[in-house]
Amino acid sequence: MFYFDAHCHILPLKQMERSVTGGVSYFICNATKPDDWQSVIDLAQQVEGVYPCIGVHPWFIDELSGDWMIQMQLLLEKYPSLMIGEIGLDGTRPHLTKQAEIFETCLKLARQYKRAVHIHGYKAWVNILNILVCFPDISCLFHRFSGSEVQARYLSKMVNAYFSVMTSKPLRYLPADRVLIESDSPDGLHKPIRVIELAERLGLNWEQLDYNFCSFIGRTMPFKGLPPQMNKG
Ligand SMILES: [Zn+2]
Repeated sequence: MFYFDAHCHILPLKQMERSVTGGVSYFICNATKPDDWQSVIDLAQQVEGVYPCIGVHPWFIDELSGDWMIQMQLLLEKYPSLMIGEIGLDGTRPHLTKQAEIFETCLKLARQYKRAVHIHGYKAWVNILNILVCFPDISCLFHRFSGSEVQARYLSKMVNAYFSVMTSKPLRYLPADRVLIESDSPDGLHKPIRVIELAERLGLNWEQLDYNFCSFIGRTMPFKGLPPQMNKG
């Protein structure tokens, strides 16, 4: 058995090392804007078990330079294990049309480079669903999922859709074999290590969570294979 954090952000190296010492073996670490992309790649090179993702979060679309897409493309070409995240739509933020354009551009790159995406959706699930129907083959991790039961059912029909949670509410209607757990550090739980107590509080079983994590990563990076630690115990 092993512990993982399915969604966090860039954290100081010391804090990542403390989480590793505390027993967390894997971290899916998301960057939210081009300025952070190299930092998340560097972190993955410093800490074994960090899976890096580069993306454009809907909160930061105004900070983009004209060549962001080319920069993303170059990095995806250079690093075959890079995933795409955090991307998505936020209905409480302005410029939903521009958010959607950027989201779709990232999804097209995900399809072209065969990468999984890590999706932020807040009060915009219908728009997200309408866009994702055009990308049925992409592996998606819906982070901090907050959609309704009907939306969850619809999304679950996508073969490659997984959900990472921090609260018990969505667990009632999510398929048990698609659920992962996350800290969203440094925002959510502040520290990845706290996923261990969170899983206990939510009554989640780590053997099932580990199975789900391997199945998500296995779909995402079959060429890379599972890290050796995943086969332990
Ligand atoms: Zn996040």
